[in-house]
Amino acid sequence: MAGITLDGVSKRYGDGHDAVRSLDLDIADGEFVIFVGPSGCGKTTALRMIAGLEEISDGEIRIDGKRVNETAPKDRDIAMVFQNYALYPHMTVAENMGFALKLSKTPKAQIQQQVREAAEVLDLVEHLDRKPGQLSGGQRQRVAMGRAIVREPKAFLMDEPLSNLDAKLRVEMRTAIARLQQRLGTTTIYVTHDQVEAVTLGDRVAVLRDGVLQQFASPKELYERPAKLFVAGFIGSPAMNFARGTLTSGAVETAIGAVPLPDRLRQAVEAGDGRREVVLGARPEAFALAADAGERPGHRFTAAAEVVESLGSEVHVHFAFGVAALDAATPVTTRGLAVAKLSGDAQVTVGQQVPLWLDTEKLHVFDADSGESLT
Ligand code: ATP
Repeated sequence: MAGITLDGVSKRYGDGHDAVRSLDLDIADGEFVIFVGPSGCGKTTALRMIAGLEEISDGEIRIDGKRVNETAPKDRDIAMVFQNYALYPHMTVAENMGFALKLSKTPKAQIQQQVREAAEVLDLVEHLDRKPGQLSGGQRQRVAMGRAIVREPKAFLMDEPLSNLDAKLRVEMRTAIARLQQRLGTTTIYVTHDQVEAVTLGDRVAVLRDGVLQQFASPKELYERPAKLFVAGFIGSPAMNFARGTLTSGAVETAIGAVPLPDRLRQAVEAGDGRREVVLGARPEAFALAADAGERPGHRFTAAAEVVESLGSEVHVHFAFGVAALDAATPVTTRGLAVAKLSGDAQVTVGQQVPLWLDTEKLHVFDADSGESLT
């Protein structure tokens, strides 16, 4: 068992800045967890506190149920993988991978066997006698992983391990890491600012903002039931579309007319006199051509296509929806345009008045002041 628990963990730097604020996380044994969020949100600090590389200002960290606040990094039995792989250039791949075992006086034959096994998992067998300088970026990153694997640690901590690789290699390595983690079943925490990487890799994803945990859930749940406006805008590409308005008599006035909330949402949202300042959220796939929607209930409207992007299997149409007056840190469009994801055979040209349909059952509603989901 190598679960990792964070109980009210905070980090305050000397300048009084709170990089991480009262973080509570319960990570199960064998789980693949992602810390994601914009630059400066505290994800690296949180990881470094778990590794023991950064002192904790407040709270408790437990690995395997055991408090490790005062435990030195080397005694925590976890392996870190960084973005700059920090391989020793004068050593071969095999020597790099076995170095930690050599330091811990593991018998030579056992080192060889463990290095060999890790090399097989990572598809590095034929490169074992090479020096890092003779390898590609992806291969070097695999050696860095190999070095972590041979130690058979209780957990892997990875800090943006793929950020130095080009886009194609990053996708390849992402798949390799996912397979590796499934095969080894070792608890892994992985830091990234890339939401696509986060949702493709993680069993669960912790979304952080300004040192505060916004939501800790499976990728599916983050996508379908974002707890906050920030999470809704951060997870998903193209991003969720937002329009701010006043809920009056069960509808919200936007640039695409008065959008009526279905009864289920209306009941959840309406307070007191039925009026409320809200932000409506609609994923790009909640829209379709009105002709394709047939008689299905929802909101029908006509919008001028301002931008049309043809991606082959889908067509993205941009149209005025309503400026969401959100704060600057929320990564959502501020141009007031929405993106509808239509099927690839949709014939739409720029400037055209397009009859569209919005599946109102798929709307998200947030409180305009707190940003909390109301649905
Ligand atoms: P990035 O993706 O840019 O690496 P991050 O989410 O990993 O960002 P951290 O590196 O954890 O963020 O930093 C969190 C906050 O703490 C930032 O505001 C940063 O400026 C601050 N910070 C980090 N290290 C220190 C330090 N040694 N002293 C003071 N402030 C620090």
